[in-house]
This record gives sequence, structure tokens and C-alpha cells, in this order.
Amino acid sequence: MAASSMTVKSFTFNPFQTNCYIAHANGEAALIDPGTHTAQERQAVLDYLERHALEVTHLLLTHAHIDHIFGCAFFADHFGRPFQMHAADKPFIAQAEEQAKGFGFPLEQPPLPDTFLEEGDTLSVAGFTWKVLHTPGHSPGSITFYDEANGFAISGDVLFSGSIGRTEGLPQTSLPQLMQSIFDKLVPLGDDVTIYPGHGTQTTVGAEKQRNPFLTGQVPGVPAPE
Ligand SMILES: [Zn+2]
Ligand SMILES: [Zn+2]
Repeated sequence: MAASSMTVKSFTFNPFQTNCYIAHANGEAALIDPGTHTAQERQAVLDYLERHALEVTHLLLTHAHIDHIFGCAFFADHFGRPFQMHAADKPFIAQAEEQAKGFGFPLEQPPLPDTFLEEGDTLSVAGFTWKVLHTPGHSPGSITFYDEANGFAISGDVLFSGSIGRTEGLPQTSLPQLMQSIFDKLVPLGDDVTIYPGHGTQTTVGAEKQRNPFLTGQVPGVPAPE
């Protein structure tokens, strides 16, 4: 058993206000969704790691939309390895530089991983087991990192406080698939599980079941769960 519970530090970076997380315990850390857009934002991550004397053992992406990967090339280079992600989002990361240009942002092309994560995979992060859940809909390769012992899920742009991930105006999205991911993968985790989303404040499954209009049948065309 790990000696201490995990700390989840959140940062909000770049013009899209994207959350980046450092989850750590026992001197080891996972860096998730490095949306760092400026040298100052990059430094905030490095300073935190240094201040807490953390060794980064995992570089992870919930999905590969550009707002979540601005800092990918820098941190992959800094730690000497690519970020782990689901293969279905490979096209997004492969075209990262082009996508960013479309928004008028400079972005250094991140290295492509050579192995990919999928549903049912487990990671050992700082002595805790993280389960990989495939939660597509907002993007085909969206994944959630679920830590049962610590009662949290880092789920990217799937479920937000009071809302859900965008499925309009983005390629390869599906609202029915997103709702299925929420109801089949996140809701069963239990009411007390903390959700660390890709945007906005943290929440819990129970709070969203009570008040999120997408989960309570108050959005036309989105049925409530049974
Ligand atoms: Zn996204
Ligand atoms: Zn996002």
C-alpha cells in the first residue's frame, strides 16, 4: 500500500483556459495535459515539480486537442520521452502544428508516441493504480485516468461542472457517444468520485447527476439515464 494519498495540483493555461494537472505522491508525479502556452506557464510547472522535489514518471494526455498539447514538445524533450495517449487521437497530434497555425498560435510539433493506451490498461503512478477508461465522443481517443484508491478521475473534456465536452464545430465528435461515455464509464464510478475536468472547476459524479442539465434530461435530445 502507498504511504500517502495523492495530491492533485491543477493549473489553468493558455487562451482556452485549459486545465493541466500534476498528480503526485511519494516524490513521484504524473503530468497530464500540458497546455502551457508561454514560457511563464512552462516555468510554473517546472517550479512546482522542483519545489516538491518530484520525479515525473508519467506524461499523459486525456486527448490531443491543441489546447491540451501546447506544451507537449517542450516537456517530451525535457523528460526525454513522448506523452502517452489513445491511438484514435493520433491524427490530431500528427497535425498539431497545422491546427495551431489555423488558430494563429505557434506550436512546436510534439513527438508521436510509439505505444498507445486503451480501455482496461493500468498505470502504476506513485504507488497507486490508475485505470484507463476509453471515454470517446468529444474526440475519438478521449481517455479518463481513474484512481479508485484516491477516489478521482482525470477525464479531460468529457464531463464538466454543469456541462459536457463540446461536440459541435469539431471534427470526429459524437454527442450520443459522449453521453454513453458519461453514463457507462463515469457515472458508475460512484457519486463520491471527484472529477478533474479539462476546463473549469473540479466536481463530483454525484453533484453532476443532481444538477448538470445534460445528466438530468433537461437538454432536448439528450435523454436522462434510466
Ligand atoms: Zn478537447
Ligand atoms: Zn479542451
